[in-house]
Amino acid sequence: MKRTFAAPGRYTQSAGVLAQLGDQAVQHGTSAFMVADDTVWELTSETVEKSFDATAGTFERGRFGGECSADEIDRLTAATARSGADVVVGIGGGKSLDTAKSVAARLDVPVGTVPTIASNDSPTSSISIVYGEDGAFADAETHCRHPEFVLVDTAVIAEAPTHWFLSGIGDALATWYEAKTTWESGGTTVFDDRPTYTGRALARTCYRLLREHATGAVRGVESGSVTESVEAVTEAIILLSGLGFENGGLAAAHAVHDGLTTLPGASSATHGEKVTVGLLAQLVLEGATDRTIDDVVTFATSVGLPTGLADLGVSDPSSEELLEVGRVAADSAGPMANEPTDISAERIADALRVLDDFESAIR
Ligand SMILES: [Zn+2]
Repeated sequence: MKRTFAAPGRYTQSAGVLAQLGDQAVQHGTSAFMVADDTVWELTSETVEKSFDATAGTFERGRFGGECSADEIDRLTAATARSGADVVVGIGGGKSLDTAKSVAARLDVPVGTVPTIASNDSPTSSISIVYGEDGAFADAETHCRHPEFVLVDTAVIAEAPTHWFLSGIGDALATWYEAKTTWESGGTTVFDDRPTYTGRALARTCYRLLREHATGAVRGVESGSVTESVEAVTEAIILLSGLGFENGGLAAAHAVHDGLTTLPGASSATHGEKVTVGLLAQLVLEGATDRTIDDVVTFATSVGLPTGLADLGVSDPSSEELLEVGRVAADSAGPMANEPTDISAERIADALRVLDDFESAIR
């Protein structure tokens, strides 16, 4: 039985740490290419510029258009090559970081990630989720290298809209359940090997931090304050969930997420919101006890996460729509393969159908 553990080179988190971006980047190259959208660049460019002042390095910025699509990756790869950059840095949300990772992989140069929102566990991973121009899930690219550095400025994270932080909590909440399922079913991680004890322990710690600090952390972010709970939950979302999912394994929660991206009504829901509903579907599919499901529904509701399709903005889905979600989720090449039994598209549609009723039964 072969096990693999892999992780980014360095993870640094604190309020104000963005001021060290130049120092971190020049350890990996002399000329950096920054992938950032206009909003993020407006927010960070002054600090980024200053951070390079005292270094021998230079940088150029490429405007990220908003979608991590094949076309956008190609366009920014060409721009990076033209600039002669020898290190790529993604600044922003998961889509800009995933694009930066794919650009760096195509050019075989190191990449650094600077998440400005804690909305998912993309910053530490070696994976890019590529979407079609219609916004539906298209492909998961796995790269040979992890980010060389991950720089997380908690002052920036706490200033961002709370719904992004909630998305991160939802994404991280599923990590332990998916790692546990992968462990018990004899499944594999994104490295195609068995999970390590370390990956499993990190996923467990991620879950514990969320349960102990999520409510306080959401309060902190709501008022733009950096508290110790904000630090703990940011680390759980970005570092522990990232290491936990890659080294612990994904399961039905993320498979159902991929299916939910086909629902037009849910298109404005965040990654973590869809993963939370995917997690509840996973629990139903695995035959979890009422108490377990009740516990997760109560926690999700208490922090403001969705617990059914209606909360995602899909009030009356057709049977065909639900079956399509099920068909995409049941794809055996995806994370559903880590479930202990074969799960059909019909059973996934059924699981999603009961979630809204379950929620109203508890409330
Ligand atoms: Zn995720």
